[in-house]
Amino acid sequence: MASKISIIGAGNVGGSLAQRLAEKGYADIVLLDIIEGLPQGKALDIIESAPILGFNSRITGTNSYRETANSDVVIITSGTNRKPGMTRDQLLKANVEIVSEVTGNIAKYSPDCIIIMVTNPVDAMTYLALKVSGFVPSRILGLSGVLDCARLCSFIAAELDVPVAEVSAYVLGEHGQNMVVIPRLAQVKGKPITKLLPQETINRLVERTINGGAEIISLLKTGSAFYAPSAAATRMVEAIILDKKEIMPCAAYLQGQYGIKDIVIGVPVKLGRGGIEQIVELELTDEEKKALASSAEAVKKLVATMKLG
Ligand code: NAD
Repeated sequence: MASKISIIGAGNVGGSLAQRLAEKGYADIVLLDIIEGLPQGKALDIIESAPILGFNSRITGTNSYRETANSDVVIITSGTNRKPGMTRDQLLKANVEIVSEVTGNIAKYSPDCIIIMVTNPVDAMTYLALKVSGFVPSRILGLSGVLDCARLCSFIAAELDVPVAEVSAYVLGEHGQNMVVIPRLAQVKGKPITKLLPQETINRLVERTINGGAEIISLLKTGSAFYAPSAAATRMVEAIILDKKEIMPCAAYLQGQYGIKDIVIGVPVKLGRGGIEQIVELELTDEEKKALASSAEAVKKLVATMKLG
């Protein structure tokens, strides 16, 4: 039997993600939204691309959670996105209600699934989903570092005029202004960028990464990024569905790792069919540890405003 993946929210990220996953062909896709016609229309459009591209996935657009029943992976993209000048944290109030309602439905209809949170502020929303669903922490994670690293890698590749495939990076911490970019771990063919670029250039690329989402919003004006976010979510889904055991930075619930407890924050995790199969503890310098701890504090403060009890 094919794997089943449901996507909640058929907006920019959800629609683009449905297309990417359908084209992969390894799972049936359900796309759900509260707006009548939106998921059905996008699903039909994707179905009509199948004869051209030659994929066989089944795609269903729906407004009913019954269609999502027994999904292996559910991705939450429902909620409000940022407008120019807004921070991710300012979305909290609007998205708490949506994410709570959506998570309750997912837990009811797909009690054994793995949830990937995309909705912002993603670290706090992942924490909320964990509390609402009652799932074990290994089955809930959020999209952050895969996207942030991809942004940094693309900037490094452009700066040094090297193939993007030769660049790797690690971005940890909050998916927001308290992101922890670690230049010493950003490398081109194994060589740290600290040996390849002057410090001012590195600082500029780090700043651009932290403000990567805002840069796109200021250009689009009516929406936020979705091509790279949907690509990043696809990579995470694929590692789970295909049991790849791949290590990538994701928002995960920490229970003492990195000296941090009871908060969701970006760290490297091993992803496989069980979801988060391991939280990987990198050796960090004292300064990097401090930056990660203060990033966790910022998320804790935001989570406290949700008054989850
Ligand atoms: P969008 O406005 O295009 O789509 C959101 C969709 O959610 C809309 O179609 C809306 O009808 C739907 N929705 C609202 N309430 C719902 C509910 N209760 N049930 C089901 N569907 C509901 O927004 P987008 O650009 O796709 O972004 C979605 C979210 O993802 C935003 O919060 C955005 O900030 C976030 N995001 C996160 C990352 C990340 O790296 N974590 C990257 C990009 C976007």
